[in-house]
Amino acid sequence: MKIAMIGTGYVGLVSGVCLSDFGHEVVCVDRDAEKIARLERGEVPIYEPGLDRLMAHNVEGGRLRFTRDLAQALEGAEAVFIAVGTPTRRGDGHADLSYVMAAAEEIARAAPDGVVIVTKSTVPVGTNRRVREVVAAANPALDFDVASNPEFLREGAAIDDFMKPDRVVVGVESERAARVMSEIYRPLYLREFPIVVTDLESAEMIKYAANAFLAAKITFINEIAALCERVGADVREVSKGMGLDNRIGNKFLHAGPGFGGSCFPKDTRALARIGQEHGMALQITEAVIKINEEVKRRMVEKLLDLCGGSFNGRTVAVLGVTFKPETDDMREAPALTIVPALVGGGARVRVTDPQGRREGEALLPGVDWQDDPYAAAEGADLLVILTEWNEFRALDLSDIAGRMATPRLADLRNVYSADAARDAGFTAYAAVGRRGFG
Ligand code: NAD
Repeated sequence: MKIAMIGTGYVGLVSGVCLSDFGHEVVCVDRDAEKIARLERGEVPIYEPGLDRLMAHNVEGGRLRFTRDLAQALEGAEAVFIAVGTPTRRGDGHADLSYVMAAAEEIARAAPDGVVIVTKSTVPVGTNRRVREVVAAANPALDFDVASNPEFLREGAAIDDFMKPDRVVVGVESERAARVMSEIYRPLYLREFPIVVTDLESAEMIKYAANAFLAAKITFINEIAALCERVGADVREVSKGMGLDNRIGNKFLHAGPGFGGSCFPKDTRALARIGQEHGMALQITEAVIKINEEVKRRMVEKLLDLCGGSFNGRTVAVLGVTFKPETDDMREAPALTIVPALVGGGARVRVTDPQGRREGEALLPGVDWQDDPYAAAEGADLLVILTEWNEFRALDLSDIAGRMATPRLADLRNVYSADAARDAGFTAYAAVGRRGFG
């Protein structure tokens, strides 16, 4: 099947590469000339494990191409996916649909008859119908269908998530769209991954409801962590004890510095906004948004306590700035709240991250980038573990403590323990939802 993919970001590029690996003929389009130039040279513009090899394999196999020219990509296409960004619209929390609608208009001008226009971007309820209206208005003669196909992949594990999904969700309103979508995902049917076929509105809601639920789960355990600190319980034990209950499950029960990333913050805001537009407050989602901001502020207070009430003149080493490990994505990362608070408070901040520097340099002015945790720790008064990259999980803590001016550790991902920190020579240790010392 011939497929065009609009947008070569974290979702569009992974989806395009994986669909070509299914055996489809895929042309990926982006309006960003530099991205396309890099892709044509065989470079992957984002960090996603395994993507470079899979991309090269399918380019060599002649199933995958890149272009800036949408009309060319649409030649003979049976389906065109919209995988452009839907960031928060300034001011009101609504998803900004300008990229989606611009893509819809461009498709209308160049698509062949019979095409199915598939929205993969996360979009508010009603958007697929608007896409249909926009396309019909721009080209009344075009024969087409729309389909909603929200994406659930996680950055850092995106290829596996796409290839072995818990489920694929497809919203359609015609037999033809259902047929084309099932043809696209046939390799998954064959491997018995469930495909939920539903109406457009339900498909759109599933994505927001799923993300808001996961954000709520993280926020719940973060709130419990704060209480654990007051009552002397250990949130890791609490998570374990809760997570072994099959009805709860152990995923998304890790206390930390608050959720960030390209999806949860903007999707919870968008869902809250959808509720408001329909005359009902989504009270749980609104609480999640508010509490998550408080969690990040609480982390700054934790660091302040470890620094004796002021960052002024302190040297702070920060390990990890991306919103989670195995990605270079910094969108709404807790680091964007915590690092500026350190810099603004007068600290000298030394930062290291295996993949975050390219994005982070522009987003975190006034910090000093280091190649590794040991170099970052040199002469520091406080070491902060902000992202739990594997590289930071088995540090030689004694070596690190020995390099620091005052060995204090803020373990905001609960990687180590108070005992390990004490044995290594740290004089103060704070984690999230567990006892520290110093
Ligand atoms: P992104 O910002 O990384 O990529 C979007 C790309 O679209 C950019 O390269 C941009 O240049 C391109 N683009 C925008 N308008 C275009 C147009 N008219 N023609 C051609 N190219 C155009 O975004 P992303 O993280 O891939 O997210 C895309 C969508 O998928 C969003 O709605 C997001 O909510 C959703 N989503 C993201 C993830 C994730 O983990 N990142 C997971 C699931 C769903």
